[in-house]
Amino acid sequence: MNIALIAHDKKKDDMVAFIKRHEAVFARHTLYATGTTGSLLMQETALKIKLKKSGPLGGDQEIGSMVANGHIDMIIFFRDPLTAQPHEPDVSALLRLSDVYKVPLATHEQTAELFVKVLTK
Ligand code: PGA
Repeated sequence: MNIALIAHDKKKDDMVAFIKRHEAVFARHTLYATGTTGSLLMQETALKIKLKKSGPLGGDQEIGSMVANGHIDMIIFFRDPLTAQPHEPDVSALLRLSDVYKVPLATHEQTAELFVKVLTK
């Protein structure tokens, strides 16, 4: 599967911990990420991740474009619901496209853990 990984700043530690917990599972898939999230994950794990631009600089839109073109099968996007984001319109656009193209999207760990159960089957 082609999986996109994105985490808002206050959720990056949670993303690193989540991916580390399931590193062997994610190693079997093709991973994409917004710039800062992906760089951090590559520092903290042995995973190879294809980097897009940082989210506020267009990375969410790049992932959205991949969704629209059928290149993403799953999105794990740890959102921070308590902090205003300068690129909120891009975030909303990505969520909308995931609905348009029916691409499964987890916005927090509990849903992401359920996704992992499917990935390990
Ligand atoms: P980042 O982008 O991984 O470059 O921080 C994530 C986001 O805020 O959309």
